[in-house]
Amino acid sequence: MLPELVVASANPDKVKEISSVLDGLVTLIPRPDHVPDVVEDGDTLEDNARLKAQAILKATGIAALSDDTGLSVDALGGEPGVHSARYSGENATYEENVEKLLQNLAGVPPRLRTARFKTVAMVCYPDGSEIIATGVVEGTISESRKGDGGFGYDPVFIPYEGDGLTFAEMGEEKHLISHRGRALRNLMEMLSN
Ligand code: IMP
Repeated sequence: MLPELVVASANPDKVKEISSVLDGLVTLIPRPDHVPDVVEDGDTLEDNARLKAQAILKATGIAALSDDTGLSVDALGGEPGVHSARYSGENATYEENVEKLLQNLAGVPPRLRTARFKTVAMVCYPDGSEIIATGVVEGTISESRKGDGGFGYDPVFIPYEGDGLTFAEMGEEKHLISHRGRALRNLMEMLSN
């Protein structure tokens, strides 16, 4: 029997990717609607992943799977990092965040637009134990948006391993090299040991 995990994420774009990567490896239970979104005010990706998983574990009593992601841009001193979701303010849209990123990088030449996505994926269990895994993908920030797949910063992130395409120009191949795909596969390896 496959292990059962409740998905802590309230973001449908992320849930879609998590389901695609973990298909056949675990039984994913949707997050209950009545649980309010947690305020992601941790100082690190790991803190935020734990806040989300603990809230769902508390509400359901079932092992909870969460992930938290940040985009770190070298020319911006590592920003937006842990603030990636609200880079241009509370309740910012993906579009507004991408716009702010492109504006802040205006005039920065391609060779200096290096960046990475990092995901921390975590399972918190009712007995208080937890498993944590990370995944990173290196790349650069393009000068304009390309592609209409994916979500978030995907239209401006060009992974080094992707033939020059942005994540938004890829389909399922994003998961083979992405931060989230890597973190989830690392997590599954730990889970099976
Ligand atoms: P979260 O805190 O893990 O929900 O992620 C923070 C923000 O990072 C999201 O609101 C998205 O803007 C962005 N993000 C997370 N994962 C991805 C991804 O796979 N591609 C592009 N942007 C992402």
